[in-house]
Amino acid sequence: LRHAPPVTDRSDHDPVAHNYSPLPVVAHSAEGAWITDVDGDRYLDCLAAYSAVNFGHRNPTVLAAVTDQLSRLTLTSRAFHSDRLRPFCADLAALCGKQMVLPMNTGAEAVESALKVARKWGYERKGVPDGAATIIVAGGNFHGRTISIVSFSDDPEARDGFGPFTPGFRSVPYGDVDAIAAAMDDTVVAVLVEPVQGEAGVVVPTDGYLPGIRRLCDAHSALMICDEIQSGLGRTGHTLAVQHWDVMPDMITLGKALGGGVIPVSAVVADRSVLGVLQPGQHGSTFGGNPLAAAVGQTVVGMLADGSWQRRAADLGAHLHERLGGLIGHGVTAVRGLGLWAGVDVDPSAGTGKEICLRLAAEGVLAKDTHGSTLRFAPPLVITHDEIDWAVDRLATVVSRG
Ligand code: PLP
Repeated sequence: LRHAPPVTDRSDHDPVAHNYSPLPVVAHSAEGAWITDVDGDRYLDCLAAYSAVNFGHRNPTVLAAVTDQLSRLTLTSRAFHSDRLRPFCADLAALCGKQMVLPMNTGAEAVESALKVARKWGYERKGVPDGAATIIVAGGNFHGRTISIVSFSDDPEARDGFGPFTPGFRSVPYGDVDAIAAAMDDTVVAVLVEPVQGEAGVVVPTDGYLPGIRRLCDAHSALMICDEIQSGLGRTGHTLAVQHWDVMPDMITLGKALGGGVIPVSAVVADRSVLGVLQPGQHGSTFGGNPLAAAVGQTVVGMLADGSWQRRAADLGAHLHERLGGLIGHGVTAVRGLGLWAGVDVDPSAGTGKEICLRLAAEGVLAKDTHGSTLRFAPPLVITHDEIDWAVDRLATVVSRG
């Protein structure tokens, strides 16, 4: 932090909208798990762009696919076919045990798309009266920033000032299967949940939660939609977090790491009986499924095929959790998570989450606070055992200063 410029310039001349409050680190380059700033100082990246850089910065396999595709074809729109889209969709569907893929760009777009599909499925296949479709969501959710998605957020920062909101959502407490059962009626077309709530502080549900939702959705002819945008693609030690509970949702949203840390690539993955409700002209995106995105996405899917990234996340995750657990009672009050993904509640007397992150950055570790005094650790899966030790030692130092 030698070079701590006014990166968040609140003056009238700042050309950057003030919708973020970044740490005062100005990244210049990156490799693997490390980011180098404009002064040449290096930082261990323990956020991985909210899991979008799961395979490390500038992963060579991803970069090779990008370079190859850049030399051939980058963008056609969906008005024409490209030779990249079908193979990508086939491989991604197979990875998820599904039949079809709807390619989009950002996570929020994938979630919006899944909500549209669920409503259409509800009217056409379940026979819900027109305009009455209801989707059950979980308290504390984070699914993105569009108007419809913030309509069912309970975070005042995300919602306040952005109404009027989209109707048709019913929110119940996260982790509570009985509350979902009580919210079920004939208008419910879907239940949307994060298998592990990321932005809420890496909240892992009890073992009965996701299987319970599966059973309720089956009993009430509703779709189970799991948002795996942050939890999916290796982060938790499985390809999908739902595999920890042996649950198969009807629709899965993916994003972030699907873009290999290079470009936005997102998708809705489901069977033909669900995604098949979309007909030409009813949904789309200029960039969704573009050849470059498809090349990157298919490469990421290929990288996950033999399970080694998932095993790495599970093994290193066990080490991360063991080390973080050792800080409980020493400036840390609780640690949650799965795989290489941890929410760490810092003793408020040690500082706010933001203050701890600033101190960590000064020690060479980049992490991100979430609400209050919670930090989340989600390093690229290329991080090593020793680097985890080093990062946790830095955390131990800064939380003990109080
Ligand atoms: N869903 C989940 C679970 C997320 O964590 C996020 C982003 O953090 C999103 C959706 C939104 O993704 P994006 O920022 O790409 O729109």
